[in-house]
Order: sequence, then C-alpha cells, then structure tokens
Amino acid sequence: MLGHEGCGVVKAALEHKLARREHLSRIQNLVDCIVPGLAEIDCQLSEQEQLTTAVRANVCWSVHQILETTEGQNAIKARARLVGAIYERTSGHVRFLV
Ligand SMILES: [Zn+2]
Repeated sequence: MLGHEGCGVVKAALEHKLARREHLSRIQNLVDCIVPGLAEIDCQLSEQEQLTTAVRANVCWSVHQILETTEGQNAIKARARLVGAIYERTSGHVRFLV
C-alpha cells in the first residue's frame, strides 16, 4: 500500500476533519473513506506536520481495511505480504513502514 508525500486528497480529508470543509462530491466521497483513519491527528502540529502524519495514518488505515476483507485475508493465507510505504516525492525514495 503506497501513499505519497503531499497527497491532495489526504489534505482534503484533514481540512474536512479539522475545519469541517465540504468538498465537491467526487472528492468528498474519497475524503469520507479517509477521515476515519485520521483519528489521532494532533491539532497542535504545523499544517505540514499534520499532513505528513495524516499520509502515514492513511497508509496504515488502508492496510488495516484491506486486511479486513475476505480477499485480503485469503491473500495473507496464501503467504502474500502486505506492507505500507510512502513515496517521498522530494527525494524519489520509497520509505517502508514496518
Ligand atoms: Zn494523493
């Protein structure tokens, strides 16, 4: 599961969670899937730090969501491995979350 630095839809989810901003429906549909995974965002952090934290939280949330599906569980039983990672656009590196 690969997230990326500066993700616009994660930023939109933060705006919705912290400032109750409503987005266009096609964006809001995505935002509504992401917000439940952003429960622990610290309001005291800078906007940049909040986004960095939220991108990571979204990857972890997405991994969790996949593992709850029948398909995800079957893949794990078949010895597939699911890992979270973040693509760092500034460096070009992929940082694995393990
Ligand atoms: Zn994105």
